[in-house]
Amino acid sequence: MRMALRLFTAVLLFAAISAAAPLRILIITGDSDYPNHDWRATTPFLQNALMASGRFDVRVTEEPRGLTPDALAGYDAVLLNYNGPRWGALAEKAIEGFVRAGKGMVALHGVSYGPLMGMEKGPNGRWARSEKKGAEWPAYKAMLGVDWEPANIGHAARHAFPVKLVDRGHPITRGMEPEFTVNDELYHKMSHRPGIRVLAAAFDNPAKGGTGQDEPIAWTVAFGKGRVFHCTLGHDTSAMYQPEFLTLFLRATEWAATGEVTLGPRAGQTAAPKDAVRVLVVTGGHAYEPSFYTVFEGHKDMVWTHAASQKDAFRPKFLERFDVLVLYDMANDLADVEKKTLEAFVKSGKGVVSLHHAIVDYTEWSWWWQEVVGGKYFVKPLGDHGASQFKDDVPMVVRPAQGMANHAVVRGLGEIVIEDEAYKGMWHSPRIKVLMETDTPLNDRPVVYIGPNEKLRVIYVQLGHGPSAHRHPSYRKLVHNAILWSAGKL
Ligand SMILES: [Zn+2]
Ligand SMILES: [Zn+2]
Repeated sequence: MRMALRLFTAVLLFAAISAAAPLRILIITGDSDYPNHDWRATTPFLQNALMASGRFDVRVTEEPRGLTPDALAGYDAVLLNYNGPRWGALAEKAIEGFVRAGKGMVALHGVSYGPLMGMEKGPNGRWARSEKKGAEWPAYKAMLGVDWEPANIGHAARHAFPVKLVDRGHPITRGMEPEFTVNDELYHKMSHRPGIRVLAAAFDNPAKGGTGQDEPIAWTVAFGKGRVFHCTLGHDTSAMYQPEFLTLFLRATEWAATGEVTLGPRAGQTAAPKDAVRVLVVTGGHAYEPSFYTVFEGHKDMVWTHAASQKDAFRPKFLERFDVLVLYDMANDLADVEKKTLEAFVKSGKGVVSLHHAIVDYTEWSWWWQEVVGGKYFVKPLGDHGASQFKDDVPMVVRPAQGMANHAVVRGLGEIVIEDEAYKGMWHSPRIKVLMETDTPLNDRPVVYIGPNEKLRVIYVQLGHGPSAHRHPSYRKLVHNAILWSAGKL
């Protein structure tokens, strides 16, 4: 009994591990006889979509002529996003054998005509059946489940049309909404092979130059022991951007690779996960370049919104709605009611990331710059402290401070070579923990530091004046790290 239970647990554990292991996908792309099929744009788009799902590990070949059985052995499925010249007998046999042996293939849009379908361009520039010996690749047509007479190649004028999921009993389509709209080319007049399973179709509107019939849009094909999914959608990234197209594509790729689908009926459409860090970015009081906004894009683990003034930011619900406050504003002082809200936020242990000119924030509020941030830029002389100075476009090397290279916020960044605005002659609390510093004589030594109160989660990053910083990958990583750290997530 105990033995059986243990075995059962082991099986479960194994199932959990194998479900989590990413499926290996090879995208076959490259040469196109058809310049409107911009594979240099669509291939990275598809690759990103697959990777972002977390289900796949994706490689790309732009040179399919080199494919061999050994080169394909590690993959679960191939994705064809290609309509160029033939690959040669070795590579074609390798792909054919790969699918036949039980692996998967996903084929999109323009793969259904051209040399791989035994066609060549005639003297009039139109596709025609090639008379050359060996021009036919019969297995290719069998894999795609389609023939397309060269004279029939085409589609109605590109327009937005509804796609109907006509078979929702298949693992790929199960649970998906029955209909969605795309803006794409609606391929028609194809000769489908018997035995294909049509999952999606669309009405080919005669008013747009269509046939007046429902045309198959997506289908599956059994080839040997393998699985093929062919979809005629996918002319360009704009067509592929449709959320339901992405769901269909992701689930079809998983099915082609495994014969099963674990991705949900809205895969690829999901917003940020529930535990994403909620960030409020505050500006107001100082001009900035719009490139600043891009610093917060591209992260699945955070969602952000923007307040264009302190008044707009520090409202009563502020504490409940956000985990991290990013300051990129500049104001001498705050109204008492705003101070109260902000103080409660900071003291609750939530995160504060102060960027660049926000070091000139709330300078009339000594608690803020002495206890919270631990630094102050003097706009004018005060007592025996002279005015601080700034200088634009200063080349700097910013490096981890002594002993800090492994701190979570700066780990892996190394030395950042950057051109940015230098600040000099500021006041720094003796209690700050400096994470990054510079030797540039035009700048004070500390550049990135944690505030003086160890109980708070406050960090200041001096860099960030303009696009040269905003677009710097290391700067973007540094700010992202600072946000996660201040949210207690690093
Ligand atoms: Zn097209
Ligand atoms: Zn600046």
